[in-house]
Amino acid sequence: MKDFNIKRLIRDNIKTMKPYASARTDYNDVSENMVCLDANENPFENGINRYPDPQQLKVKAEISKLKGISVHQLLLGNGSDEVLDLIFRAFCEPKKDNIITLPPTYGMYDVLAKLNHIENRRLPLTNQFQPNLELISRSKDYRSKAIFICSPNNPTGNQFSKGKIEKLLREFEGLVVIDEAYIDFSNKESWIKRLDEFPNLIVTQTLSKAYGMAGVRLGICYASEAIITILNKIKPPYNVNTLTQQKVLEKLSEPDRISEDITEILKQRDGLKLELETIPFIEKVYPSDANFLLVKVDDATKRYQELLKKGIVVRNRTNQLLCNNCLRFTIGTESENKKLITVLKLL
Ligand SMILES: *Cc1c(COP(=O)(O)O)cnc(C)c1O
Repeated sequence: MKDFNIKRLIRDNIKTMKPYASARTDYNDVSENMVCLDANENPFENGINRYPDPQQLKVKAEISKLKGISVHQLLLGNGSDEVLDLIFRAFCEPKKDNIITLPPTYGMYDVLAKLNHIENRRLPLTNQFQPNLELISRSKDYRSKAIFICSPNNPTGNQFSKGKIEKLLREFEGLVVIDEAYIDFSNKESWIKRLDEFPNLIVTQTLSKAYGMAGVRLGICYASEAIITILNKIKPPYNVNTLTQQKVLEKLSEPDRISEDITEILKQRDGLKLELETIPFIEKVYPSDANFLLVKVDDATKRYQELLKKGIVVRNRTNQLLCNNCLRFTIGTESENKKLITVLKLL
Protein backbone atom coordinates (compact mmCIF):
# COMPACT_ATOMS: atom_id res chain seq x y z
CA MET A 1 0.00 0.00 0.00
CA LYS A 2 1.62 3.26 -1.10
CA ASP A 3 1.11 6.44 0.94
CA PHE A 4 -2.41 5.84 2.13
CA ASN A 5 -3.66 9.02 3.74
CA ILE A 6 -7.09 8.92 5.31
CA LYS A 7 -7.19 12.74 5.38
CA ARG A 8 -7.45 12.81 1.59
CA LEU A 9 -10.68 10.82 1.78
CA ILE A 10 -12.60 12.71 4.48
CA ARG A 11 -15.17 15.26 3.37
CA ASP A 12 -14.20 18.84 4.27
CA ASN A 13 -17.39 19.49 6.26
CA ILE A 14 -16.67 16.41 8.39
CA LYS A 15 -13.05 17.45 8.95
CA THR A 16 -14.06 20.76 10.47
CA MET A 17 -17.29 19.89 12.30
CA LYS A 18 -17.46 19.40 16.05
CA PRO A 19 -19.46 16.37 17.22
CA TYR A 20 -22.60 16.76 19.31
CA ALA A 21 -21.55 16.77 22.97
CA SER A 22 -24.29 14.97 24.85
CA ALA A 23 -24.73 15.04 28.60
CA ARG A 24 -23.38 11.50 28.68
CA THR A 25 -20.35 12.42 26.59
CA ASP A 26 -19.37 14.83 29.34
CA TYR A 27 -20.13 12.38 32.08
CA ASN A 28 -20.90 8.74 31.41
CA ASP A 29 -20.33 6.98 34.72
CA VAL A 30 -23.99 6.84 35.78
CA SER A 31 -23.76 3.46 37.49
CA GLU A 32 -22.41 4.81 40.77
CA ASN A 33 -24.30 6.66 43.42
CA MET A 34 -24.28 9.89 41.47
CA VAL A 35 -27.23 12.23 41.34
CA CYS A 36 -27.81 12.67 37.61
CA LEU A 37 -29.51 15.94 36.89
CA ASP A 38 -27.70 16.57 33.63
CA ALA A 39 -29.68 14.98 30.80
CA ASN A 40 -33.31 16.00 31.37
CA GLU A 41 -34.27 12.36 31.85
CA ASN A 42 -37.28 11.25 33.86
CA PRO A 43 -35.80 10.44 37.31
CA PHE A 44 -38.13 7.54 38.18
CA GLU A 45 -36.25 4.28 37.75
CA ASN A 46 -37.83 1.75 35.35
CA GLY A 47 -34.77 0.18 33.75
CA ILE A 48 -34.84 2.37 30.66
CA ASN A 49 -35.37 5.90 31.94
CA ARG A 50 -31.69 6.76 31.39
CA TYR A 51 -30.00 7.33 28.04
CA PRO A 52 -27.89 4.39 26.85
CA ASP A 53 -24.08 4.38 26.92
CA PRO A 54 -23.20 6.21 23.68
CA GLN A 55 -19.97 4.22 23.36
CA GLN A 56 -21.51 0.84 24.31
CA LEU A 57 -18.37 0.00 26.28
CA LYS A 58 -19.66 -3.23 27.84
CA VAL A 59 -20.76 -4.66 24.51
CA LYS A 60 -17.53 -3.58 22.85
CA ALA A 61 -15.47 -5.19 25.62
CA GLU A 62 -17.21 -8.53 24.92
CA ILE A 63 -16.80 -8.26 21.15
CA SER A 64 -13.18 -7.27 21.65
CA LYS A 65 -12.56 -10.42 23.71
CA LEU A 66 -14.45 -12.64 21.31
CA LYS A 67 -12.78 -11.36 18.14
CA GLY A 68 -9.37 -10.30 19.43
CA ILE A 69 -9.72 -6.72 18.17
CA SER A 70 -9.02 -3.62 20.27
CA VAL A 71 -12.11 -1.67 21.40
CA HIS A 72 -10.56 1.36 19.70
CA GLN A 73 -10.97 -0.42 16.38
CA LEU A 74 -14.69 -1.05 16.87
CA LEU A 75 -17.79 0.98 16.12
CA LEU A 76 -21.32 -0.31 16.70
CA GLY A 77 -24.34 0.73 14.68
CA ASN A 78 -28.09 0.35 14.48
CA GLY A 79 -27.60 -2.60 12.13
CA SER A 80 -24.72 -2.71 9.67
CA ASP A 81 -26.88 -0.59 7.39
CA GLU A 82 -26.23 2.37 9.70
CA VAL A 83 -22.51 1.66 9.64
CA LEU A 84 -22.53 1.63 5.83
CA ASP A 85 -24.42 4.92 5.78
CA LEU A 86 -21.86 6.51 8.12
CA ILE A 87 -19.10 5.49 5.71
CA PHE A 88 -20.88 7.32 2.87
CA ARG A 89 -21.49 10.39 4.97
CA ALA A 90 -17.93 10.64 6.25
CA PHE A 91 -16.06 10.06 3.00
CA CYS A 92 -18.27 10.60 -0.06
CA GLU A 93 -18.91 14.14 -1.24
CA PRO A 94 -22.39 14.33 -2.81
CA LYS A 95 -22.44 14.87 -6.56
CA LYS A 96 -18.65 14.68 -6.77
CA ASP A 97 -17.33 11.39 -5.43
CA ASN A 98 -18.18 7.89 -6.56
CA ILE A 99 -18.20 4.39 -5.13
CA ILE A 100 -17.73 1.02 -6.78
CA THR A 101 -20.01 -1.97 -6.26
CA LEU A 102 -19.87 -5.43 -7.80
CA PRO A 103 -23.34 -6.62 -8.81
CA PRO A 104 -25.12 -8.89 -8.31
CA THR A 105 -24.77 -7.88 -4.67
CA TYR A 106 -26.52 -6.50 -1.60
CA GLY A 107 -29.06 -3.86 -2.61
CA MET A 108 -28.36 -1.42 0.22
CA TYR A 109 -25.09 -0.10 -1.26
CA ASP A 110 -26.97 1.31 -4.23
CA VAL A 111 -29.79 2.67 -2.06
CA LEU A 112 -27.27 4.43 0.18
CA ALA A 113 -25.40 5.79 -2.83
CA LYS A 114 -28.64 7.30 -4.17
CA LEU A 115 -29.62 8.61 -0.73
CA ASN A 116 -26.26 10.32 -0.39
CA HIS A 117 -26.24 11.48 -4.01
CA ILE A 118 -23.12 9.52 -4.89
CA GLU A 119 -22.46 7.92 -8.27
CA ASN A 120 -22.40 4.14 -8.03
CA ARG A 121 -20.10 2.54 -10.60
CA ARG A 122 -21.61 -0.90 -10.95
CA LEU A 123 -18.95 -3.29 -12.22
CA PRO A 124 -20.37 -6.80 -12.70
CA LEU A 125 -18.76 -9.88 -11.24
CA THR A 126 -17.30 -12.38 -13.69
CA ASN A 127 -19.38 -15.41 -14.71
CA GLN A 128 -17.69 -17.26 -11.83
CA PHE A 129 -19.07 -14.58 -9.48
CA GLN A 130 -15.61 -13.12 -8.77
CA PRO A 131 -14.51 -9.45 -8.87
CA ASN A 132 -13.34 -8.35 -12.31
CA LEU A 133 -10.06 -6.73 -11.28
CA GLU A 134 -9.21 -5.48 -14.73
CA LEU A 135 -12.57 -3.74 -15.09
CA ILE A 136 -12.23 -2.22 -11.62
CA SER A 137 -8.76 -0.97 -12.39
CA ARG A 138 -10.01 0.65 -15.59
CA SER A 139 -13.12 2.20 -14.04
CA LYS A 140 -11.84 3.77 -10.83
CA ASP A 141 -10.48 7.29 -10.50
CA TYR A 142 -9.20 9.50 -7.69
CA ARG A 143 -12.80 10.28 -6.69
CA SER A 144 -13.58 6.58 -6.13
CA LYS A 145 -13.74 6.82 -2.36
CA ALA A 146 -14.83 3.29 -1.56
CA ILE A 147 -15.38 -0.14 -3.05
CA PHE A 148 -17.98 -2.37 -1.43
CA ILE A 149 -17.12 -6.05 -1.37
CA CYS A 150 -19.67 -8.46 -0.01
CA SER A 151 -17.99 -11.77 0.86
CA PRO A 152 -19.64 -14.24 1.21
CA ASN A 153 -21.72 -12.41 -1.36
CA ASN A 154 -25.47 -11.91 -1.22
CA PRO A 155 -27.20 -13.25 -3.35
CA THR A 156 -24.60 -15.50 -5.00
CA GLY A 157 -23.52 -17.13 -1.71
CA ASN A 158 -19.84 -17.53 -2.60
CA GLN A 159 -16.73 -15.97 -1.12
CA PHE A 160 -14.34 -13.97 -3.27
CA SER A 161 -10.82 -15.19 -3.87
CA LYS A 162 -8.41 -14.12 -1.16
CA GLY A 163 -5.79 -13.18 -3.74
CA LYS A 164 -8.18 -10.87 -5.59
CA ILE A 165 -9.28 -9.09 -2.40
CA GLU A 166 -5.65 -8.72 -1.33
CA LYS A 167 -4.81 -7.18 -4.68
CA LEU A 168 -7.67 -4.71 -4.31
CA LEU A 169 -6.53 -3.81 -0.81
CA ARG A 170 -3.06 -3.07 -2.17
CA GLU A 171 -4.05 -1.22 -5.31
CA PHE A 172 -7.28 0.61 -4.55
CA GLU A 173 -6.58 4.15 -3.32
CA GLY A 174 -9.92 4.53 -1.52
CA LEU A 175 -11.50 2.48 1.25
CA VAL A 176 -12.09 -1.22 0.76
CA VAL A 177 -15.25 -2.11 2.67
CA ILE A 178 -15.68 -5.85 3.15
CA ASP A 179 -19.22 -6.73 4.21
CA GLU A 180 -18.97 -9.96 6.18
CA ALA A 181 -22.64 -10.36 7.11
CA TYR A 182 -22.34 -14.10 6.37
CA ILE A 183 -18.79 -14.78 7.55
CA ASP A 184 -19.93 -16.90 10.50
CA PHE A 185 -21.25 -19.52 8.07
CA SER A 186 -17.92 -19.81 6.30
CA ASN A 187 -14.86 -21.80 7.28
CA LYS A 188 -12.55 -19.16 5.83
CA GLU A 189 -10.86 -16.54 7.97
CA SER A 190 -12.34 -13.09 8.49
CA TRP A 191 -10.49 -10.08 7.11
CA ILE A 192 -10.52 -8.51 10.60
CA LYS A 193 -7.28 -10.42 11.19
CA ARG A 194 -5.60 -8.28 8.53
CA LEU A 195 -6.64 -4.81 9.77
CA ASP A 196 -3.16 -3.84 10.89
CA GLU A 197 -1.77 -4.62 7.45
CA PHE A 198 -4.22 -2.51 5.44
CA PRO A 199 -5.02 1.05 6.60
CA ASN A 200 -7.76 1.32 3.95
CA LEU A 201 -9.66 -1.76 5.15
CA ILE A 202 -13.09 -1.56 6.80
CA VAL A 203 -14.89 -4.78 7.75
CA THR A 204 -18.57 -4.86 8.68
CA GLN A 205 -20.35 -7.69 10.44
CA THR A 206 -23.83 -8.04 11.90
CA LEU A 207 -25.72 -9.92 14.59
CA SER A 208 -28.69 -10.21 12.20
CA LYS A 209 -27.80 -13.56 10.62
CA ALA A 210 -25.77 -16.23 12.43
CA TYR A 211 -26.32 -14.66 15.86
CA GLY A 212 -30.08 -14.79 15.45
CA MET A 213 -30.67 -11.17 16.46
CA ALA A 214 -32.04 -9.38 13.39
CA GLY A 215 -34.64 -7.77 15.65
CA VAL A 216 -32.23 -5.91 17.90
CA ARG A 217 -30.34 -4.21 15.03
CA LEU A 218 -26.65 -4.45 15.84
CA GLY A 219 -23.95 -3.96 13.26
CA ILE A 220 -20.23 -4.00 13.92
CA CYS A 221 -17.58 -2.02 12.10
CA TYR A 222 -13.88 -2.92 12.37
CA ALA A 223 -11.22 -0.56 11.05
CA SER A 224 -8.08 1.37 11.96
CA GLU A 225 -8.33 3.63 14.97
CA ALA A 226 -8.10 6.62 12.62
CA ILE A 227 -11.17 5.54 10.63
CA ILE A 228 -13.13 4.59 13.75
CA THR A 229 -12.43 8.03 15.27
CA ILE A 230 -13.94 9.72 12.20
CA LEU A 231 -17.06 7.52 12.15
CA ASN A 232 -17.49 7.96 15.90
CA LYS A 233 -17.50 11.69 15.48
CA ILE A 234 -20.51 11.65 13.13
CA LYS A 235 -22.62 8.79 14.49
CA PRO A 236 -25.88 9.68 16.25
CA PRO A 237 -24.91 9.83 19.94
CA TYR A 238 -27.33 7.19 21.21
CA ASN A 239 -27.51 4.99 18.12
CA VAL A 240 -27.61 1.66 19.99
CA ASN A 241 -30.40 1.55 22.54
CA THR A 242 -30.32 0.14 26.07
CA LEU A 243 -32.50 -2.92 25.34
CA THR A 244 -30.30 -3.88 22.40
CA GLN A 245 -27.14 -3.54 24.47
CA GLN A 246 -28.65 -5.74 27.21
CA LYS A 247 -29.89 -8.45 24.84
CA VAL A 248 -26.57 -8.53 23.00
CA LEU A 249 -24.63 -8.94 26.25
CA GLU A 250 -26.90 -11.87 27.18
CA LYS A 251 -26.38 -13.47 23.79
CA LEU A 252 -22.62 -13.03 23.75
CA SER A 253 -22.40 -14.77 27.13
CA GLU A 254 -23.58 -18.00 25.46
CA PRO A 255 -21.17 -18.52 22.54
CA ASP A 256 -21.86 -22.28 22.51
CA ARG A 257 -25.51 -21.70 21.65
CA ILE A 258 -24.47 -19.56 18.70
CA SER A 259 -22.14 -22.18 17.28
CA GLU A 260 -24.79 -24.88 17.76
CA ASP A 261 -27.21 -22.82 15.66
CA ILE A 262 -24.59 -22.35 12.97
CA THR A 263 -23.73 -26.06 12.88
CA GLU A 264 -27.39 -26.97 12.50
CA ILE A 265 -27.98 -24.39 9.75
CA LEU A 266 -24.94 -25.67 7.81
CA LYS A 267 -26.15 -29.26 8.15
CA GLN A 268 -29.58 -28.21 6.91
CA ARG A 269 -28.03 -26.27 4.03
CA ASP A 270 -26.00 -29.22 2.80
CA GLY A 271 -29.00 -31.56 3.08
CA LEU A 272 -31.30 -29.14 1.31
CA LYS A 273 -28.79 -28.69 -1.52
CA LEU A 274 -28.76 -32.44 -2.20
CA GLU A 275 -32.56 -32.60 -2.18
CA LEU A 276 -32.92 -29.58 -4.46
CA GLU A 277 -30.57 -31.14 -6.98
CA THR A 278 -33.05 -33.99 -7.51
CA ILE A 279 -35.87 -31.67 -8.61
CA PRO A 280 -36.31 -31.71 -12.39
CA PHE A 281 -37.00 -27.99 -12.95
CA ILE A 282 -34.01 -26.95 -10.84
CA GLU A 283 -31.11 -26.43 -13.20
CA LYS A 284 -28.41 -25.48 -10.74
CA VAL A 285 -27.82 -25.04 -7.03
CA TYR A 286 -24.84 -22.74 -6.57
CA PRO A 287 -22.23 -23.52 -3.91
CA SER A 288 -22.82 -21.50 -0.72
CA ASP A 289 -20.68 -20.18 2.11
CA ALA A 290 -23.76 -18.56 3.66
CA ASN A 291 -27.15 -19.42 5.17
CA PHE A 292 -28.96 -19.41 1.85
CA LEU A 293 -28.84 -21.13 -1.51
CA LEU A 294 -29.04 -19.49 -4.91
CA VAL A 295 -30.97 -21.78 -7.21
CA LYS A 296 -31.46 -21.55 -10.97
CA VAL A 297 -34.86 -22.81 -12.11
CA ASP A 298 -36.74 -23.03 -15.41
CA ASP A 299 -38.94 -19.97 -14.74
CA ALA A 300 -38.18 -18.07 -11.53
CA THR A 301 -41.23 -15.80 -11.53
CA LYS A 302 -43.63 -18.69 -12.14
CA ARG A 303 -42.01 -20.86 -9.43
CA TYR A 304 -41.92 -17.91 -7.02
CA GLN A 305 -45.68 -17.39 -7.44
CA GLU A 306 -46.42 -21.10 -7.07
CA LEU A 307 -44.44 -21.28 -3.84
CA LEU A 308 -46.21 -18.19 -2.54
CA LYS A 309 -49.60 -19.82 -3.17
CA LYS A 310 -48.44 -22.76 -1.05
CA GLY A 311 -47.45 -20.43 1.75
CA ILE A 312 -43.70 -20.32 1.18
CA VAL A 313 -41.98 -16.99 0.64
CA VAL A 314 -38.60 -17.00 -1.06
CA ARG A 315 -36.63 -14.27 -2.81
CA ASN A 316 -36.95 -13.89 -6.55
CA ARG A 317 -33.59 -12.63 -7.85
CA THR A 318 -34.30 -13.02 -11.57
CA ASN A 319 -33.89 -9.31 -12.28
CA GLN A 320 -30.39 -9.16 -10.78
CA LEU A 321 -27.40 -9.20 -13.07
CA LEU A 322 -26.15 -12.78 -13.78
CA CYS A 323 -29.11 -14.18 -11.82
CA ASN A 324 -31.58 -14.81 -14.61
CA ASN A 325 -34.25 -17.27 -13.35
CA CYS A 326 -32.67 -17.51 -9.92
CA LEU A 327 -34.43 -17.84 -6.59
CA ARG A 328 -32.76 -17.43 -3.22
CA PHE A 329 -33.79 -19.80 -0.46
CA THR A 330 -32.88 -18.92 3.12
CA ILE A 331 -32.12 -22.04 5.19
CA GLY A 332 -34.95 -22.63 7.65
CA THR A 333 -35.54 -25.18 10.39
CA GLU A 334 -35.54 -28.86 9.52
CA SER A 335 -39.34 -28.92 9.21
CA GLU A 336 -39.45 -25.73 7.13
CA ASN A 337 -36.87 -27.10 4.73
CA LYS A 338 -38.78 -30.40 4.49
CA LYS A 339 -41.92 -28.49 3.66
CA LEU A 340 -40.08 -26.56 0.95
CA ILE A 341 -38.88 -29.82 -0.62
CA THR A 342 -42.30 -31.47 -0.37
CA VAL A 343 -43.97 -28.50 -2.04
CA LEU A 344 -41.32 -28.23 -4.76
CA LYS A 345 -41.69 -31.93 -5.58
CA LEU A 346 -45.41 -31.45 -6.15
CA LEU A 347 -45.06 -28.47 -8.52
C1 LIG B 1 -28.43 -9.13 5.85
C2 LIG B 1 -27.27 -8.33 5.38
C3 LIG B 1 -26.77 -7.29 6.16
C4 LIG B 1 -27.39 -7.02 7.48
O1 LIG B 1 -27.62 -5.73 7.76
P1 LIG B 1 -28.15 -5.34 9.21
O2 LIG B 1 -28.48 -3.92 8.99
O3 LIG B 1 -26.99 -5.53 10.14
O4 LIG B 1 -29.30 -6.21 9.55
C5 LIG B 1 -25.65 -6.61 5.72
N1 LIG B 1 -25.06 -6.92 4.55
C6 LIG B 1 -25.52 -7.93 3.80
C7 LIG B 1 -24.82 -8.27 2.55
C8 LIG B 1 -26.65 -8.64 4.18
O5 LIG B 1 -27.13 -9.62 3.39
